[in-house]
Amino acid sequence: MTYLDRFRLDGRTALVTGGARGIGLATCEALAEAGARVILTDRDAEAAEAAAQGLRDKGHDVRADRLEVTDSAAVEALAARYPEVDVLVNNAGIARSNVPAETMSDDVWSSVVDINLNGLFWCCRSFGKRMLERQAGTIVNVGSMSGYIVNRPQEQAQYNASKAAVHQLTRSLAAEWAPRGVRVNAVAPTYIETEMNAYVYDDPELMRHWVGGTPQNRMGRPDEVAAVILFLASDAASLMTGSIVLADGGYTCW
Ligand code: NDP
Repeated sequence: MTYLDRFRLDGRTALVTGGARGIGLATCEALAEAGARVILTDRDAEAAEAAAQGLRDKGHDVRADRLEVTDSAAVEALAARYPEVDVLVNNAGIARSNVPAETMSDDVWSSVVDINLNGLFWCCRSFGKRMLERQAGTIVNVGSMSGYIVNRPQEQAQYNASKAAVHQLTRSLAAEWAPRGVRVNAVAPTYIETEMNAYVYDDPELMRHWVGGTPQNRMGRPDEVAAVILFLASDAASLMTGSIVLADGGYTCW
């Protein structure tokens, strides 16, 4: 096998959560380009189907399915339908910004933790169980540099806490499952140009913090995160498990 072959995913099945747009959609394209059969899931069935059709129009092997990651029964049902999934990318996530901790509602706290942490765990559990039975498979979780640092000047304790928990969950599962052939890693991106951040583009003060605070002097693009996910999902990363890979333009160096 050549070094370049190690990055290929021919014959593998990959499932991505929150795949209808942003980092998830770019990841579906990256995995499909590498030869995987991709199952693009999202909580909005129509958006998932439209996104999958866009990738099929480019010649990729992609099908769509609805998946609300907070519904553990639905996650288990989908995993039972696709026991052959070799690559799981837990990308679905939300952020709620500018919410001071002392006045945060139960709903804001719970909705973020429910999707970013609980939903991600339900997916790891259901798909991971089947990977363990086959003694093969790999999971890539989308964490965040916010799992390491407290980004300023926003107040989003729930988001930061949920992503730090994702990192430690990644390391815990990696240690438990490594002896049985399943790798678990995470990517920790900086600020990425997606709809999640649409509210920031018209806020020069925030943009000054984000861009000016980044040694590369820019935000990241979804495809740049997808490339890291592709690497972690591939055999090129066969020695890596429990790694949290920063893709942050140097933000956390300062
Ligand atoms: P987007 O908001 O652009 O896309 C997220 C997608 O996930 C949407 O299609 C959304 O659907 C879907 N989704 C949300 N909740 C659920 C759910 N409960 N079940 C299934 N699908 C769901 O986000 P990004 O692409 O920016 O972010 C993707 C991941 O990357 C997230 O985990 C995020 O925390 C992480 N991340 C993002 C960064 C950034 O700067 N953008 C930085 C670091 C990490 P809907 O339209 O219905 O909301």
